[in-house]
Amino acid sequence: MTAPAISLENLDIAYDGLRVVKGVTFDVAPDESFALVGESGSGKSTVLKALCGLAPEWTGKMEVLGQPGPHRPDRALAQRCQMVFQDPYGSLHPRKTVDTVLSEPLSIHGIGDKDARVQQVLEDVGLDARFRFRYPHQMSGGQRQRVAIARALMLEPEVMLLDEPTSALDVSVQAEILNLLKRLRAERGLTYLMVTHNLPVVSFMCDRMAVMNKGEIVEIAPATALHDGSFSDPYTQKLYAAS
Ligand code: ADP
Ligand code: MG
Repeated sequence: MTAPAISLENLDIAYDGLRVVKGVTFDVAPDESFALVGESGSGKSTVLKALCGLAPEWTGKMEVLGQPGPHRPDRALAQRCQMVFQDPYGSLHPRKTVDTVLSEPLSIHGIGDKDARVQQVLEDVGLDARFRFRYPHQMSGGQRQRVAIARALMLEPEVMLLDEPTSALDVSVQAEILNLLKRLRAERGLTYLMVTHNLPVVSFMCDRMAVMNKGEIVEIAPATALHDGSFSDPYTQKLYAAS
C-alpha cells in the first residue's frame, strides 16, 4: 500500500478557545483529487491552512508527504505542497507585477534561471508573454487566478491545496479555470485537496469527497455517489438535495 500524500487523524483546531475543527480524520492518496465540502463556516479553510502551518496551534496527527505536519509555515514543505486561495485579488499584491510574483518563490528557494521558468509557467497556465509585466488591476478575475495558480506551480509541488479556487469567478470563467486545473493534474500527476461548496465541481474534478459540518467530517464518499445521491448521512443528503 502506498503511503498517503496527506493524512489527518483526530485533527482539532480552536480559535480563541472555540473549537472549529473537531476530530477530523481522512487520508488523501498520492495522485488523488479529494474534495472537502460543506457550508460556509464549517472549518474547511482552517483545515487547509493547518496543512500549510497557517492555522493556530492544532492537536492530533497530521502528515504531509511523509513528514509530520507543520506548526508554522515551513520552507521545505512549501516547495512540495502549495496553496491557492479563493480570491486572487486578495492573494496577489496590488503593487507587484506578475513577473515579481512568479520570481519570488524561486528567489526564496535560491533557484536560478528565473526568466525561462516564469515564461514556461505562464505558458502552462495559458497566459501569453504580454501578461508578464502586468499588475493585478490590469487583469480580469480569471487571469488573476491563472497567475495565482502559476505562482503555486513555480516550485513544481506534488500537492496543491485549492481553497474554492473558482467561487469568486463568473460561471464561464469558472469552467476555464477548472479545465486548467484538470489538465495540470493530468499532465503532472498532482495531488489535489480542494475545498468547494459546489457539488457539480466535485463531480467534474474529484475522485472522493469528505463532507464537513460544524467542524466535523460527517461522511466520506466516492464522487460517483453524486450520480445517484447514494449518501448515508442526513446532512450530506440535504446538501445533495439542495444542489
Ligand atoms: P469555511 O472555510 O468552511 O467557510 P473557516 O475554516 O474559514 O470555514 O472558518 C471556520 C470557523 O472559524 C468560522 O466560524 C470562522 O469564523 C472561524 N475563524 C476562521 N478564521 C479565524 C480567525 N483567524 N480567527 C478567529 N476565528 C476564525
Ligand atoms: Mg473557506
